[in-house]
Amino acid sequence: MTAFDTSIERNAIEQHTAEPVNAPRIRQPLYAPRRKIFPRRAEGTFRRFKWLVMLITLMIYYVTPWLRWDRGPHAPDQAVLVDMANRRFYFFFVEIWPQEFWLVAGLLVMAGFGLFLVTSVVGRAWCGYACPQTVWVDLFLVVERAIEGDRNARIKLDAAPYDARKLALRVSKHAIWLLIAVATGGAWILYFADAPSLFVGLFTAQAAPIAYITVAVLTATTYVFGGLMREQVCTYMCPWPRIQAAMLDENSLTVTYNDWRGEPRSRHAKKALAAGDAVGDCVDCNACVAVCPMGIDIRDGQQLECITCALCIDACDGVMDKLNRDRGLISYATLADYNQNMALATANGTSAIYPERVRGRDGRLLPGITNVRFTRIVRPRTMVYFAAWSLVGLALLYGLMTRDRLQVNVLHDRNPQYVVLSDGSIRNGYTVKLLNKIPEPRAVVISLEGLPDAAMSAVGINEPASRKLAVTLEPDRLRTLKIYVAQPAAAINGSVQTLRFVVEDPSSFETDSYTASFEAPQP
Ligand code: SF4
Ligand code: SF4
Repeated sequence: MTAFDTSIERNAIEQHTAEPVNAPRIRQPLYAPRRKIFPRRAEGTFRRFKWLVMLITLMIYYVTPWLRWDRGPHAPDQAVLVDMANRRFYFFFVEIWPQEFWLVAGLLVMAGFGLFLVTSVVGRAWCGYACPQTVWVDLFLVVERAIEGDRNARIKLDAAPYDARKLALRVSKHAIWLLIAVATGGAWILYFADAPSLFVGLFTAQAAPIAYITVAVLTATTYVFGGLMREQVCTYMCPWPRIQAAMLDENSLTVTYNDWRGEPRSRHAKKALAAGDAVGDCVDCNACVAVCPMGIDIRDGQQLECITCALCIDACDGVMDKLNRDRGLISYATLADYNQNMALATANGTSAIYPERVRGRDGRLLPGITNVRFTRIVRPRTMVYFAAWSLVGLALLYGLMTRDRLQVNVLHDRNPQYVVLSDGSIRNGYTVKLLNKIPEPRAVVISLEGLPDAAMSAVGINEPASRKLAVTLEPDRLRTLKIYVAQPAAAINGSVQTLRFVVEDPSSFETDSYTASFEAPQP
């Protein structure tokens, strides 16, 4: 039996009745009524990879708020927490204050460049594997298949009139979908408060109204987007399919139907071969259409609806295995490789596709034929994206490692700018803000630099005026002090002099300073 023995092939392949929702001959206006899609379960490498990504992303989402991280007695012990009340963001060992929001902005810029990089290398991998819409639709489909069966059973059930069985199946499915949706909304708000206490509060009607409102809104959106609207969200609502085209070029890997070896497709190879017609590898079984969660036919070429989930690759590889043909009739391929192979199959465009030009006598692809050339991943575009991503990452890392955990800010009194005391000396008032950004109390020293004859005193600190003040700071808090600096009239040598407030933590040697002005009347 040779690999190209037609007696074992096409009759052995299950034919699926599946029509793409957007085939040119039935294409409807943009907001046409939806045609229901009943994706068949796929098996294969990409499906397994998708299961893995789904498991990891769902685990991260649902489990993260429950992770604890010991920050001592003065800070929350939730590993990831957006503490709105105290205006802090905790991420494991990192604590971000509102004035350090540049770190979050930097992370978003990094995520943007990362997305550009991934898209330019492997097309819409984000859409196909990791986008929340994709992950939750996949999860909802798992439930649907478990209750209603695979594609054919679901089509049959959908067409059947409502009876007790159909009602029971539909109610069970929607009830589980709603439970998932509630869990999804519930998990989201746990990122904004202590998860265990909020969880108890939610069930004992002790949580704030906004918590219930947020859960309700997210439950509704998860249920509607993941269960009811599914692929319509990607096709009509998401801007990413429109934007991503700008990041693709002829060397980007995208899911491609290799018609240079698949066409002319035929369900009846023997007849076609006997008639002397060329026969491609595609047996027109529609398995690729039946598994597609977007309901499209990749054989119609690149389409906006395709999220590059690669399930059609799995489906077609299964068919090719049964036919004892090379896998990869549908594969990740670059336009450059595709064009090269197409030129071979069409004798540089001088004839229709003749697959024998790319196959040997045994039906296998010729040695020079390639579907994927991974060296094309490294090219100027991807290098620029990678360089930008790395630079932002390094800058963020540097900023994170060197950021101040002790800060001083000073505001000079404007009205009055100075006061002449009874002994003729001049006094200026300052509002000094001391920021302790660690979750431990600190004893710091504020000292004056410049104005050698000046001394300072602070409201609420009963110490004689001097050039140094000992101050205690609460953990993770801002302390505001009213400080007066005075110097004798004889020391004034201009209407504006400068001085520096230096704050130092003697135990950690952390220090910060602020230069301010000292105002006086003209001498
Ligand atoms: S491309 Fe593959 S899965 Fe799709 S119809 Fe052809 S043989 Fe079947
Ligand atoms: S055509 Fe293939 S890759 Fe594109 S969405 Fe459908 S199954 Fe996924």
